Amino acid sequence: DPTARDTLLESLNPQQQAAVLHGEGPLLVIAGAGSGKTSTLAHRVARLVADGADPRRLLLLTFSRRAAAEMGRRVERLLARLPGPQRASLSWSGTFHGIGARLLREQAECIGLAPGFTILDREDAADLMGLVRHEQGLSGRDSRFPLKATCLAVYSRAVNAEAELETVLDLAFPWVRMWEAELRRLFAGYVEAKQRQQVLDYDDLLLYWAQMMLEPEIAAEIGGRFDHVLVDEYQDTNRLQASILTGLKPDGRGVTVVGDDAQAIYSFRAATNRNILDFPGLYRPPARILTLERNYRSTGPILAASNAVIALAPERYAKDLWSDRLSGERPQLVTVRDEADQARCVAERILAHREAGLALKEQAVLFRTSHHSGMLEVELVRRNIPFVKFGGLKFLDSAHVKDLLALLRWIENPRDRVAGFRVLQILPGIGPAIAGRLLDRVAEGFDPELALAAAPPPARAEALWPDFVALVGRLHRRAAGWPAEMADARSWYDPLLAERHADAAARAADLVQLEQIAAGYASRERFLTELTLDPPGATSDEAGVPLLDEDYLILSTIHSAKGQEWTAVHVLNVVDGCMPSDLATGRADEIEEERRLLYVAMTRARDHLALMLPHRFYTHQQAPTGDRYVHAARTRFLPPALLPLFEEVSWPPPARPTVVATDSTRRAVDIAARLRAIWR
Ligand code: ATP
Ligand code: MG
Repeated sequence: DPTARDTLLESLNPQQQAAVLHGEGPLLVIAGAGSGKTSTLAHRVARLVADGADPRRLLLLTFSRRAAAEMGRRVERLLARLPGPQRASLSWSGTFHGIGARLLREQAECIGLAPGFTILDREDAADLMGLVRHEQGLSGRDSRFPLKATCLAVYSRAVNAEAELETVLDLAFPWVRMWEAELRRLFAGYVEAKQRQQVLDYDDLLLYWAQMMLEPEIAAEIGGRFDHVLVDEYQDTNRLQASILTGLKPDGRGVTVVGDDAQAIYSFRAATNRNILDFPGLYRPPARILTLERNYRSTGPILAASNAVIALAPERYAKDLWSDRLSGERPQLVTVRDEADQARCVAERILAHREAGLALKEQAVLFRTSHHSGMLEVELVRRNIPFVKFGGLKFLDSAHVKDLLALLRWIENPRDRVAGFRVLQILPGIGPAIAGRLLDRVAEGFDPELALAAAPPPARAEALWPDFVALVGRLHRRAAGWPAEMADARSWYDPLLAERHADAAARAADLVQLEQIAAGYASRERFLTELTLDPPGATSDEAGVPLLDEDYLILSTIHSAKGQEWTAVHVLNVVDGCMPSDLATGRADEIEEERRLLYVAMTRARDHLALMLPHRFYTHQQAPTGDRYVHAARTRFLPPALLPLFEEVSWPPPARPTVVATDSTRRAVDIAARLRAIWR
């Protein structure tokens, strides 16, 4: 029914409609924040399905799994408006890494990968790098050789940028430049270790995928499965991701990418703005370029301030965004004394918004770096304000949760040494040397239970040994089935928790939660893969655990807030040193990325935006005076010329005398002063 299908277009402006109705050729939608790029993509998918496209033949690549799920729901909602049974379960929607893992698992045999490969998260990958570094004698006590995490960062950057090691060192890690030869040897060892152990790190998911697409037959088969490939947030893809896309669709047919070059904030993961700028020229005839200029998200004053911030960038982001959402309220610049006051002030403002009818879910607090929210988190707990935090240390990073996951991973792939080391060393009396020997044994044999049972149990582990070996056997044979084996593993591990941790009860509760999360996955392998790729927070709805039906505030790093929006947004620490971060080297391109970061933060807000400016800032380096506070200045991205676009307020508001001073109150004031003086 053509007229019914057209109702899908009704709410869209002409530029958006053009993007939805665009035919087969490559298409780039490049447009500013809140202009409807993501919603246009959802409409395009819905329209394709309504026009008869098979939803299983659409590949949708998003920035996070959360974004993919949200896109799926949107498409469903749009299709539900049409008559007749219109259903679209997008079976191929997810992140590049997630889709890569799936394709590699499926194609493993063709490309010489073990089908049972396991995936290392960043921390495990760094551990493996550390093991190899140690084996190669690069971690001697007085060596100033870079830390394992730094080594991994260098390696990862080179892989994702498809760049030479020298170039990466020169551009991004000049201070470890002198170790080039050692690093090269280390990386070779690291690659070899991963292959021997049949593990892939995050970068391998892209690297193997890109390599696989160089095989003409495989590339044609995989590319041929999809009539359309649609990518959101294209400005934050890296070289590898771009080559995967060309591998899938060399002629660009059916390729749609959307993004905003002014929001590129992932260069530390080797993302490059060049991808989006070069996209049109990849094809003959070149891709069609559409822009969207109307912002539907933010009020006029918020948009004006955000536009002004990005307009000061030396790079020209040629986009004029306008909004007809009128409002008298300018974004606020809130000056507070220090971070403690910032936490109190933000908490109070959030409660005030809630009093005014704005649910916590409609509000977010954003920050540059995960630990910036520490003080606020304490304040929120104290005031009983529930919150969920995105980005930063997660539930799954805690030691006990990782222990249990490592056990499952090691059973899944007994050659995975990082997992094996972790598991064996749970047992008392087993250190790296014994663990190493046991792992060699297990890697040689086919049955880990037999291999372990034949090993003499180390003296201190003797009592626990038979139970452990039996558990390994049950898990290996999948005796209990999934997810029951999760409970089996947990009941083995629970008693050991008490010996290892003082807060065993809380940790045991986490493991119960892990068990519940596990129940949401169809198999052990799915559970491990998806959890490693996109770890949920402790109270996430992503893993199929129903969220507590309560209202909660979102705390998020700016990086993790990409593509999202809230009615009220607070941004913490909008001061030099945080934004731009003092970890930025001061090189112009890094500073510019920090400016875009502020732009991304500001453009998340619909109706209310507050930028917090603490006057004093706690630092790690002690000043010569012994002071750990430094004076903080408003970020350089808000020069005086921009101030009229904001309303400047300070908190606490200037005190108004509320009591008439009498002799007795005057005495009370004196006592208060004396009490304070004790602590001076
Ligand atoms: P970002 O750059 O932050 O990812 P975006 O360009 O992807 O932003 P969307 O998130 O798709 O923008 O849209 C921003 C808001 O505008 C959403 O609330 C969306 O529902 C709304 N919106 C988009 N297009 C329209 C439209 N034609 N009419 C009404 N609202 C719209
Ligand atoms: Mg978007």
